[in-house]
Amino acid sequence: MDKTLPQYELYAVRYATREARRADNFIGGDPHDGPMPLDYYLWAAVGQERTFVIDSGFTSEVAAKRGRTYLRCPIEALSLVGIDSERVQDVILTHMHYDHVGNFHRFPAATFHLQEAEITYATGRYMRYRRLAHSFEVEDVVGVVRLNFARRVMFYDGPAELAPGITLHPVGGHSGGMQFVRVHTRRGWVVVASDVTHFYENMTTERPFTTAFHIGKMLEGFDALRAHAPITHIIPGHDPLVMRCYPAPTANLEGVVARLDVAPDATLLPT
Ligand SMILES: [Zn+2]
Repeated sequence: MDKTLPQYELYAVRYATREARRADNFIGGDPHDGPMPLDYYLWAAVGQERTFVIDSGFTSEVAAKRGRTYLRCPIEALSLVGIDSERVQDVILTHMHYDHVGNFHRFPAATFHLQEAEITYATGRYMRYRRLAHSFEVEDVVGVVRLNFARRVMFYDGPAELAPGITLHPVGGHSGGMQFVRVHTRRGWVVVASDVTHFYENMTTERPFTTAFHIGKMLEGFDALRAHAPITHIIPGHDPLVMRCYPAPTANLEGVVARLDVAPDATLLPT
């Protein structure tokens, strides 16, 4: 813990879910097939002076189109942790897949923070291939281009410190310009991995998730997470276990919001 750094409150907001099988979630399948659902989250780091929203989820329209179970609007759910999206100044986009960048229009006052490699990827040569393009919504991509013309996107070409206690870390693999985010909290640095690892198990067993651009870089991404934090301080992008091992801020938010700035029940975590 660095006492000179601010301590952010850190939340995961669960807004959607999808049934899946274990074989869906690992390249190469899984010999022990069975149910392995995915949850959809966004995250928020709330400081004394600044608030950073990490990713923006998808809309109900996209949920219907893609057959996802939409539990709640993620933007309205931010109010559960005291955040008014209309006043948010900073949104970090870990990458531009549909489930991380929809709803950008709900942050009219925000600057968006993104790795330049991601917009290059999302507007580039590989989007002619359905296998890679299917994770993007073209209207989201065009929307980010429009935001850039409105001077509302900050692009990074490598690691960056957005503010004391908030740092960005690019890793390749899952998408062209994926990044994870480190947030300084009262229990030290917590790594919001987003889709660098969808589940704890992708990382702990070194078996990448099936949505992949470069498998070698995905494996290196797991190493990068491990190099920055122990598993008790790494938050995967889609694992329902996050909701089970971290407490809700209040009892009525059980299953909706988890506090990540307090210690998890580590007995539930893989090693
Ligand atoms: Zn993704």
